This record gives sequence, structure tokens and C-alpha cells, in this order.
Amino acid sequence: MKLLRYALGGETYVGVLNGGEIMRLGLRSLAELMPADAAFAETGDLDKLADARILPPLLPGKILAIGRNYAEHARELDNEAPSEPLVFAVMPSAVIGAGDVIEWEAAMTAQVDWEGELAVIIGRTARKVSQSDALDFVFGYTVANDVSARDLQTRDKQWTRAKGLDSFCPLGPVVVTADDIPDPQALRIVTTVDGVEMQRGATADMIFSVRHLIAYLSRAFTLYPGDVILTGTPAGVGKARKPPQFLGDGSVVSVEIDGIGKLTNRCRVL
Ligand code: MG
Repeated sequence: MKLLRYALGGETYVGVLNGGEIMRLGLRSLAELMPADAAFAETGDLDKLADARILPPLLPGKILAIGRNYAEHARELDNEAPSEPLVFAVMPSAVIGAGDVIEWEAAMTAQVDWEGELAVIIGRTARKVSQSDALDFVFGYTVANDVSARDLQTRDKQWTRAKGLDSFCPLGPVVVTADDIPDPQALRIVTTVDGVEMQRGATADMIFSVRHLIAYLSRAFTLYPGDVILTGTPAGVGKARKPPQFLGDGSVVSVEIDGIGKLTNRCRVL
């Protein structure tokens, strides 16, 4: 099931996407569907996707992200592959939806980079869960772009600003429920910038699987419904290209994951 949150006629809705049609549900946020086995009511109303403005699929509680979770990406930036997950946090206020604008001030950063990633949405409270049970706590999956200001990442020595600036966490366009993605390690991620392919990765190549990450993170933090995990990016980021390439005013960046959808955002430099 593909769920999306959208605006239409001044109202906010949640619906199930079927081709170009949205079956409107009688709720206002995905949180009302968590835990994942919660019942939901169909209103019987159908909306056209073309008439709707897609919103971020959810406003996460916390966003936990994993650095260097693909060996080839660690290598391209001259980093060692980590021996345990490299965890950082992204500000929930950075979230925007598909079609929204990624924007930044020229005075803040001149090295804005893309990172296409699979995002995991937690649907049940998880505390110290095992790897074998971990996927039972997943509500669904969406597409993320872990937009990164490389100059701030280097200068600040930690990543709060680099990864957490307003608009730097596009999510969407839809959430695919976990029952439709039995194996999150069998997905392909492709990132394009202005139509040119930059990243082509397979979630099979993650160093630490989704199961591993949920178990690992749940030992440090209680994971709540609506929390999001960004699982790391494959090789092909702009900083590693020769010469380095970054996003600029008017750049259009898309991240597509098979079976989920395509997350497209335009960039604006202020
Ligand atoms: Mg990342």
C-alpha cells in the first residue's frame, strides 16, 4: 500500500495512492495508522493525484541517520568502512516533501551535495529489539535525500548544521507499507541531478542491514512510531567526483527507489 499526505482545497488529507488516483482516508496523519495493524476508515472519496499538492509523508519525531553504510561510498571519500554503525541525528525541522524546494543561503554554504537513501519509518515502539524481530517494528519505507553541506561538515567537525539545515531532508513522495517490501535489502537506489545519473546503488550492499540498524539503534534510544532512520548513501556523491560537483541554484535532484517512488526537488540559492 502506498500512503501519502497531501493538500487539496486548503485541507490536509492522508490517502492511498493507486495509479493516478488517491483513495482518501478518514485521518490527518500517518501516526493514526501506527501501530501498523491499526484499522483505518476509507471515506469513499477519490482525489486525483494531479490535483493534489504532495506534503512530507510525516513529520518525524526523531531522525537517526547512518554515515558510511556502503563500502564504496566510504572509499570514495577516503574513509575507512566503519566497524559499527556511524550514527548521527538530523533535525526534524529539515524535512520537506516531494516537489518542495531545497534552499540555502550562499553565505552559509557553497558545497551542497546529494545523498539518495532508503528511509525506514518506525511503526511500533522498539527498545532493545533483536535483529530477528527488528522488521516487525517497521511501519514502512520512503525515499530520502540526506542533503549535505560539505564545507560545514568539514568545518564544524560534527554534522548538525551540515545535515540539518532547513529543507535539507526531503522525504517522500509516498510511504510504502512494510508488508509490500518484505526484503528492504533488495532495492535499487538511483540519484540524478538535472537528469544525469549520479548514484546507482543496491541496498544489498549496505554494510549494516536495516535489521541490524534497528536492533543497534534501539539499544541506545527508544524508537517511537514516526521516528525515521536514514540508512546511508551509495557511492556517487558530488564531493567525490573529479572535479567535485555540487548543487546550485535551479538544480533538480531526484532520488528513485524501485517499488517506492521518485523524490524530486528543485534547489534555490538565496
Ligand atoms: Mg547520508
